Formats: sequence, C-alpha cells, structure tokens
Amino acid sequence: MPNLQDAVTDYIGSEHYLFLDSAQKEHAEQLLSYWCEQTTNTPEPDDIESALKTVGQLDLPLQARKSFPALLQAYFDYLESIGGFPKTSAWSMQIEYLEPQYLESFRDDGSMKGETVRKTLPKVGRNDPCPCGSGKKYKHCCTGLFS
Ligand SMILES: [Zn+2]
Repeated sequence: MPNLQDAVTDYIGSEHYLFLDSAQKEHAEQLLSYWCEQTTNTPEPDDIESALKTVGQLDLPLQARKSFPALLQAYFDYLESIGGFPKTSAWSMQIEYLEPQYLESFRDDGSMKGETVRKTLPKVGRNDPCPCGSGKKYKHCCTGLFS
C-alpha cells in the first residue's frame, strides 16, 4: 500500500492540484501533511475525526482552517483516482459528515471549542532539506529534532 503522507507531495505536483482554489493552495501542503502525520496510513473514523480537530486548532488563518475539510476531500478524490487506497470514499463520507460540526466549533475569535493549547505547525517540513546540513530531506534524517 502506498504511503498516505508521501502521496501529498505527488498530489501537489499533480494536475488535480491545479483545480484547487488558489486561496486553499497557500497552506495546502503543510495542512495535508500535518493531517497525515496525525493519523495512521489506514485511518479509522476516530483517527479521522481527531486529526481534523487538531488541524482546526493550528495557529493558521481561520479561513485556511475552515476550508480544510474541502481540501481534504479534494485530496481523497485524488487518492481515489490514483488507486491504492481502497477506503478513500469512506474517508470522504466521514469528512462530509463531520464538516458541519467542525465549522460550528469555531468561536468568533477564531479559537475552537474544547481547545486547550494552540498548536503550531512544525517549522521544518518533512520534505525540506534537513537543518543539520546533511543535504538529506528532513524526513530521512533528523526527523523530530527540529520541530
Ligand atoms: Zn539531519
């Protein structure tokens, strides 16, 4: 089975990505790869829900967080088209089901109900060069050390 997170990079380089709203593209790669990090490679409904909530609490513009379910569904559509992830339509249905509740949980100030600590995205992306200077990608080198 292909890797859910590595497929994010392929998605960003794919034709499917061209159709994404330009406002969504700004944080798309970061958000999707962060979401994948919070789940397993074969997420169950509970994983999908808790990872979605975690994204909702990220220190990012409210609009980017609110449009995340739509972004995730666009990503699942892409996965469905490349094959190898048999459960994508179930994941997509789950997001559709969770979206209204997710959107309602934002307060006017942009925080989320039930939020404890505002999370920040890791400073180094998985596919960025490793800060140690090895020349390798971060994910193949000092993963975890610089986040
Ligand atoms: Zn390193």
